[in-house]
Amino acid sequence: MIFNKKNTYEQHDNEIGSFYKSSIKPLNSNDKLNEDLNIDICIIGGGLTGVTSALNLSNKGYSVALCEARKIGSGASGRNGGQLGIGMRKDQIYLEKKLGKIHAKDLWDLGLEAVEECLSLIKKNNIDCSLVNGVLSAGCFNNDFKEFDIELNYLLKNYNFNGYKIFNKNEIKHQISSDIYKSGLLNLNSYHINPLKFLIGLSKILIKKNVKIFENTPVLSLVDHKDYIKVNCKKNTIKAKKVVVACNGYLDNLLNNKSNIFMPINNYVIATEPLGKEKAKEIIHNNYAVCDTRFIIDYYRFSEDWRLIFGGGETFSSYFLKESKDFVHKRMIKVFPQLKNYKIDFSWGGTLAITVNRLPSFGIMMNEKLFYAFGYSGHGLALSGLAGKLITEKIQGNDERFNLFAKIKHISIPAANLFRRPIYSSAIFYYKLRDLINYL
Ligand SMILES: Cc1cc2nc3c(=O)[nH]c(=O)nc-3n(C[C@H](O)[C@H](O)[C@H](O)COP(=O)(O)OP(=O)(O)OC[C@H]3O[C@@H](n4cnc5c(N)ncnc54)[C@H](O)[C@@H]3O)c2cc1C
Repeated sequence: MIFNKKNTYEQHDNEIGSFYKSSIKPLNSNDKLNEDLNIDICIIGGGLTGVTSALNLSNKGYSVALCEARKIGSGASGRNGGQLGIGMRKDQIYLEKKLGKIHAKDLWDLGLEAVEECLSLIKKNNIDCSLVNGVLSAGCFNNDFKEFDIELNYLLKNYNFNGYKIFNKNEIKHQISSDIYKSGLLNLNSYHINPLKFLIGLSKILIKKNVKIFENTPVLSLVDHKDYIKVNCKKNTIKAKKVVVACNGYLDNLLNNKSNIFMPINNYVIATEPLGKEKAKEIIHNNYAVCDTRFIIDYYRFSEDWRLIFGGGETFSSYFLKESKDFVHKRMIKVFPQLKNYKIDFSWGGTLAITVNRLPSFGIMMNEKLFYAFGYSGHGLALSGLAGKLITEKIQGNDERFNLFAKIKHISIPAANLFRRPIYSSAIFYYKLRDLINYL
């Protein structure tokens, strides 16, 4: 069986095009790696993990170069649902059971800080990325209301968190114009944004700080030497005292079998033609972002020009769907049949990294010269915005907060694609079936 004929980062060539790409000019860095380079820190990957690492490290005075295989934002950071959510992919009750109360509480604090960090970067640097408050969990199942209520009260009592508002069946209907939801939980500490505008806004600051950004520069291999790592690109090499690997779902074999910790999953998104503000407010009354409670979630929100950006549907093979528009559109009209006749202007997809426990994996390799962070499991917009800060703290010798992620144990599934894809696919099939049974 042959998998991964192409590198994952090369797999977006078959899409109609992303709304985000149409909404902002690409960065188009002028830097070219035409000669060998010596540098303090080389960052690999031009998504939010890489860009926030470059920003934080250059602020501390290190010389920094960033290599991106394609363009800044070509990966998940420039393609995602734009939901800037607090917390982790798993709830606090699960985290407490799995990691203990103290560790779970520390992660909760980091989850809050992650959103605050992104808000502060947006505000401090005047990045126009269409920030809107509020993310709503829409309950598809009868017992969701009870679950929401438990979560709201648990967080109020144990975490002093009062950012939730609960909706019953009548109330959710006033928020979202769809018949399929039975309840809702609004999070007022979460936001939604145009993620590519955020990322490009941050990358422009890097250029001002003389960080070298090498786009269209895939890193082919990394070789450990005593005092440096040799970063091999197609024609030239970079000798770096430290390396940050920020490739998330696009990592492939760059760190050998480290990618066995996660499953790269392709998730797809569409954007309608602009519906106008009035119609948009009819659909989502308060312009919140929405995600539902199924295992394979639908998530959606309105763009700055009132298009419905609707994400949902995943594939688990190592190939991107050639045509994903209809695949997602079918899901969209199940939720909003009234939008059946609106045109779909954009259709795209991205790759995310899902770990078995749905928590990110941070770590070090090559005698503390190489640092990595990946596996945000579909909840990485805010966390990858914080990752750069934690990696910088670690490089500067303060590992306390980096270790809150680094000490989480992960299951690694060996023999890469041969076992990983079938194991994950059958687990997902089981959850899909469970969703279907609960949903009926
Ligand atoms: C469709 C979709 C919807 C999502 N929706 C949400 C959401 O609403 N909210 C949320 O919180 N999270 C969401 N996520 C997850 C979130 O986008 C990611 O967790 C986050 O963007 C990861 O950022 P990153 O910088 O670590 O990785 P990425 O943004 O994926 O960047 C990795 C980069 O590394 C580059 N690269 C790979 N290999 C090499 C190499 N050898 N050399 C050089 N460069 C290389 C790639 O080209 C890529 O640009 C979504 C993800 C997807 C795909």
